[in-house]
Amino acid sequence: MLFATDGVITKVSDATGSDKFLNIITPNRGRIGVLVKGSRSPESKTASLSQLFTYGNFEIYEKNGMYWLRGGMVIDPFYNLSEDITRIAAATYMCELANELTDESDECEEILRLLLNSMYLLGKGEKKVAIVKAVFELRAMAISGYMPDASACRYCKTPIADEMYLDVLGGRIMCAECFKERGDKTKNISRDFEDVREASVICRMTSSVVAALKFVLMSPPEKTFSFYITDDEELQLLSRLAETYVTSHLGRGFDSLDFYNAVK
Ligand SMILES: [Zn+2]
Repeated sequence: MLFATDGVITKVSDATGSDKFLNIITPNRGRIGVLVKGSRSPESKTASLSQLFTYGNFEIYEKNGMYWLRGGMVIDPFYNLSEDITRIAAATYMCELANELTDESDECEEILRLLLNSMYLLGKGEKKVAIVKAVFELRAMAISGYMPDASACRYCKTPIADEMYLDVLGGRIMCAECFKERGDKTKNISRDFEDVREASVICRMTSSVVAALKFVLMSPPEKTFSFYITDDEELQLLSRLAETYVTSHLGRGFDSLDFYNAVK
């Protein structure tokens, strides 16, 4: 069966001979693995349609659950991402994270739109890479069912304070006073249950970071990047929080994230 779909190429790997194997995230068919025959040969017509980050409309042949690229049209190759190593690194990581969070047959319209918006902003270079990356991480996790409740302190319901903490795996925030109180209790529990202490991952937040977290999670998709954190240390806090949220919930690291942190 032949069909056409929009999608973005989130992974490219070499297959046998001059063939390539692509991951394409599509709105309605989820993340599909597509073989491209002969795309590494110089006279290939599909070479431009088989580059990482390419957003296009792909003509795909499907048989018995296998997919082959027949042709298509590039909508945006995101060439401007390659002007800067940090942008390439961030975009590569976002694609790897999107691959991890999606599967074949998933409804992927929301995460696809987030990924495209993020790559567009990275390519334009007007927004700080660390902000685009943190927004992508937090929104992608929220879309995929890992939405933290950042509305107020889970204990005293204070919505925002100078110092707050995110209980990463619990997906809740706490003010400094309640954290202190609870922290002591956790210590008591941990004497008997070692794993309780080991399982808690806590990130400190300033009020700007709390405000940013709330904004990223609660704003409509078209507004989600429209905030500023000017203080570098606070941006670092948000950045580390978003990374920790991803790696703690998914229980894994990412080579592309390590690479990003090495070159940023
Ligand atoms: Zn509190």
